Amino acid sequence: MSSTSTALTIAGSDPSGGAGLQADLKTFQQLGVYGMSVVTLVTVQNTQGVLQVEVLSPELMSAQLQCVLSDIPPLAIKTGALGNALVVTELARQLEGYAGPLVVDPVIVSKHGHLLASEDVIEAYKEQLLPKATLVTPNRFEVERITGVELTDELSILHALKELHRFCPGYVLMKFGELDGQSLHILSSPQRLDSQQELRKISQPRLAAPNTHGTGCILSAAICAKFALGETEVETAVRFGIDRTYEAILGNTALGQGIHPAETR
Ligand code: PLP
Repeated sequence: MSSTSTALTIAGSDPSGGAGLQADLKTFQQLGVYGMSVVTLVTVQNTQGVLQVEVLSPELMSAQLQCVLSDIPPLAIKTGALGNALVVTELARQLEGYAGPLVVDPVIVSKHGHLLASEDVIEAYKEQLLPKATLVTPNRFEVERITGVELTDELSILHALKELHRFCPGYVLMKFGELDGQSLHILSSPQRLDSQQELRKISQPRLAAPNTHGTGCILSAAICAKFALGETEVETAVRFGIDRTYEAILGNTALGQGIHPAETR
């Protein structure tokens, strides 16, 4: 039997290589994990923005998935952009027999505000996929969309996480973004929220990098890779993922024309 660590990403394509399955595969490779990818949707984009998104049929996604799973079993799986409710529902059905770590990055809105999924995807996530996840990694806009709670202060964040845990029995890592010069992540589990009633914050000094496109993908892929390497503690895998993402931003290659700060939200 091979001792190679294997991980699978089920995600969308970013032809410019900064986000999506391309970022996931590069991350797996860098961390010594053999990466596989099932394509869910194709974007037309570069560092300046997304011009077009086309979602593949659930049948085509499912055929790729079955073909890979029947041959090379992944030790961990992550999902990225899935596009619509049909794909989410079919994927959840296909993962019924999978018992390994599952990291779900519920890509609905990119951090620059581009919509990467149709509205119907939210219900499908809540009903079908989030209940299966070991860890869910939404950004703040996705938390707002999924829960309907506007994040204005700590109390609203606590409320939103409680709401989210109605669908997520596993962990949630909220990528909050910038707050008071820090880059903030919040890690929660239903047990922790019940017993402590306080937020578990992980913050780092915010780096003034112009191009952070795809860092959400890198984060969930690095966490997935850590699981594939045998880590069983979610908090350890999360810290590892945050550290690797920080390093990726530090080593950021200034490729492409990027987005002018005034155009981002
Ligand atoms: N997946 C794909 C295919 C994308 O195109 C994007 C963003 O454009 C993302 C995921 C999410 O990227 P980010 O981590 O910048 O939010």
